[in-house]
Amino acid sequence: MKHLVSILDLNNKDVNKIFSIAKHFEEVLERRVKKVPALIGKTLALLFIEPSTRTKTSFELAARRLSCDTISLSVSTSSLKKGETLEDTARTLSSMKVDCAVVRHPHEGAAKKLASLNLFPVINGGDGKGEHPTQALLDAYTALKKLKSLNGKKVSIIGDVLHSRVARSGIELWHRLGAKVTLVGPPTLLPRHLPEYVDVSYRLDEVMKNSDILYFLRIQRERLGGECLAGIEDYRDLYALTKDRLKNLRRDVVIMHPGPVNRGIELDPEVIYDERSIIEEQVFEGLSIRMAVLTLLLSEKGGFHEIPA
Ligand code: ASP
Repeated sequence: MKHLVSILDLNNKDVNKIFSIAKHFEEVLERRVKKVPALIGKTLALLFIEPSTRTKTSFELAARRLSCDTISLSVSTSSLKKGETLEDTARTLSSMKVDCAVVRHPHEGAAKKLASLNLFPVINGGDGKGEHPTQALLDAYTALKKLKSLNGKKVSIIGDVLHSRVARSGIELWHRLGAKVTLVGPPTLLPRHLPEYVDVSYRLDEVMKNSDILYFLRIQRERLGGECLAGIEDYRDLYALTKDRLKNLRRDVVIMHPGPVNRGIELDPEVIYDERSIIEEQVFEGLSIRMAVLTLLLSEKGGFHEIPA
């Protein structure tokens, strides 16, 4: 049984397959009837134990566009509130013949644990500061569409890298697609142990001119705990893409953020809608990428060899 828990679960061939199927689904999403029967009769469970707007909606809509049924469980409306373990919940869903689950959980490793039960394919929709593989896929795919190739492109990932599952999955994928990754942030928000292919900078102004992609991360307030952030004002001064910084930015730079944006902390509102920002495209591509991933894990043919009509 296949799962998508980590970006490392995919080899380069899988990534290319996902991208090529996503391209097909993009076209489906432009049709008058935005739906195909690819996964008719299948059921996807959305197990979201931590808040989410984009990922949950995107998976739910992706499933529906593929004619896959969905059921949604949250802590407040399920027996998880009564202390039932995630494992027991998953076993209950499996008895009900659910075919696949997307899991969002505050604890790193939660999706892996569920996948190890091999009840059904598990997709990691974000586990604490662990990983978020579909976010990495949609980010790389959106950037690839914009820039045609990522080979040799300079990607700066700015902000709270330490607590970011988006960065963990992303760094590996950007690198694999040939981009040069620089992490930018205060030392307190950068991991100590990094792959040798990654560069580090403590100043946004230092990397701005040389970056092809500026990828801003959200400050993970819910994961910061007692750890200190020098002060939001200082952070903004050093690391936010402000209206003023925007003026000195290259015309051909690409601005990205996984959302939700802390306005005025990572990005000024004007930046979100600047013509160099592809934040809305990221959301759009999330849908086609997730349709592709669901098809890969759930189609009868067990893969991407056939593109569903
Ligand atoms: N939406 C992304 C995630 O769930 C990014 C974020 O929340 O910072 O990881």
